Amino acid sequence: MILGPSGRDRTGGRVHRRPASLIAGILCIAGLAAPAPALRAGGDLDDRLGLSATRLSQPDYDIGTILADKVEPNWPGDVQGRLILAWTSLAEATGREPPQLAALVAGLPATFNGRGYLGPPLDLHAIDEQQLSGHGWLIAGLCRYGEYSGDRRPLDWAGRMIQELALPLRGSYARYPRTPDERNRAGGAVGQLTGRINNGWRLSTDVGCAYILLEGLVTAYQAMPSRELAGLIDEAGEAFLATDVVAVQAQAHASLCAARNLLLYERLTGFRHGWLPKIEAFYQLYRERAMTENEANWNWFGRPSWTEPCAIVDSFLLTFELWRITGQAAYLGDAHRIFYNALGFGQKTDGGFGCDAFNGDGGLAISNRHWNVPWCCNMRGACGLAGAACARAEWREGEGTLFLPFYSDGKLSQPGWNLVERTGWPIDETVEIRGRRHPGETSRLKAVAMFVPAECPWQAVRLELDGRPVLCELKNGFVSASLPDGAEEFTLRLSLQPALRTEAPHNLATRTGVVTVRYGFLILGTPDGRTLPSLRVRDLQPLGEGRFRVGSDGMVLSPLCEMPFSAATKAAPWRTQVLFPVASE
Ligand SMILES: [Zn+2]
Repeated sequence: MILGPSGRDRTGGRVHRRPASLIAGILCIAGLAAPAPALRAGGDLDDRLGLSATRLSQPDYDIGTILADKVEPNWPGDVQGRLILAWTSLAEATGREPPQLAALVAGLPATFNGRGYLGPPLDLHAIDEQQLSGHGWLIAGLCRYGEYSGDRRPLDWAGRMIQELALPLRGSYARYPRTPDERNRAGGAVGQLTGRINNGWRLSTDVGCAYILLEGLVTAYQAMPSRELAGLIDEAGEAFLATDVVAVQAQAHASLCAARNLLLYERLTGFRHGWLPKIEAFYQLYRERAMTENEANWNWFGRPSWTEPCAIVDSFLLTFELWRITGQAAYLGDAHRIFYNALGFGQKTDGGFGCDAFNGDGGLAISNRHWNVPWCCNMRGACGLAGAACARAEWREGEGTLFLPFYSDGKLSQPGWNLVERTGWPIDETVEIRGRRHPGETSRLKAVAMFVPAECPWQAVRLELDGRPVLCELKNGFVSASLPDGAEEFTLRLSLQPALRTEAPHNLATRTGVVTVRYGFLILGTPDGRTLPSLRVRDLQPLGEGRFRVGSDGMVLSPLCEMPFSAATKAAPWRTQVLFPVASE
């Protein structure tokens, strides 16, 4: 069966829904977000989470293979850490714990070296940055699993890794090679050690992967803060933010992971470093120099290459956190684009995540390069989906307002209220929230605020409370409705009407004279791989559900997130045109 976000199979039938359930509390993937109300996604997001869990239960993720470190022996801790993070994230988001999760964690200590971590002992004269990168995921995974399970031992193991592998690095990040002459521009889908040792660092083709250790350091800092650990994060953060990522052609994923963790750390430490403007400037640079036109990524800054769902996930989580901190709706709009146009397109029918290419610089079409990526993206993709499930609601106690920044079928449990959300978002334009108050409980819920993407014309926005129009204004990208005092139940209905539009490329290296075609923020492409030499928007005829007939020959444009990946497209690499030369009117 081929699923799209609207939850229909390609024969038009409605896919069976699993019953959603409530949990008492959920940790947010971003780690430091404001406490979310208990929530559980249903519908298409839950379908995608389920597919991801299924892919991560296949034999290549058997813990015997993972613990034997046979998948990526040159990246000690990498696969183990990513899998613990992915399985823990899926368990938190769905309530369905992957059956081998506890055994994977329990089996780890038998694989540690005498100093309590994986791989060879740290050599401060030849620091293996791939080992640090792998332990970024492993330390974060152990901390997250410890928090999820209540088992203190994984936190103790992570603490020893901090002591033995991380803290001795103090002074080393300041001399991490970050100029073009010091790096190697080769590299494939799997990063490799180049054989070069500069300034005491043994370098990888994944330029900047040493900064992925920040994933572990910042996660550990939440559970085990110390002055020494803060000093190391400060040093690594200052070194990263002083890097010209374009000149050095840094790996996009490593850079996005670093920026996201530094942003979380800034929030955690009261913004005392003043890093926010630099992180915002970094994201703008990424958007202009390494983000593809479907909001995915090039693998390295300045090198048009293949996309990587690992980077897509971190760009999604980074933009979401930037919105939380700055309140700027543009970041939330980008998070939607990244989630649907890039991650939604990157997930395959079997639940894994694959890499695509724009056929080189200036290409008009995306074609599939790797069907899915067992050693990294399949696992990181799960964290992205779980992040979206956690991002559906944000309760702001001081305002008495429940903010809904990201729509999905499902339930939301707010103190005093049970809320049910129904929507076919983003293909259908209506979002409905039904609320029922718990008998006898005090309600602090005064209002519900709902996101309106900038691509939906304001004059077509309709908000109704219990069937009556709500007079509302757009405030920082949200409309809100106040609940009547003493209300026992309510139905809130938001109707949007995405506009069909063309958009100029945002990446400065994309060829000129082309546009993307969008239904709201959803990017459209040719689902049959055919190429249009030119396009006029006035020729497009709406077919419903975001699909448009191009002309009289039966050619159709449809949203990328609805593209029908299947076994056939795996055998014949998938191709879809997404950049269109503009025809003269
Ligand atoms: Zn990856």
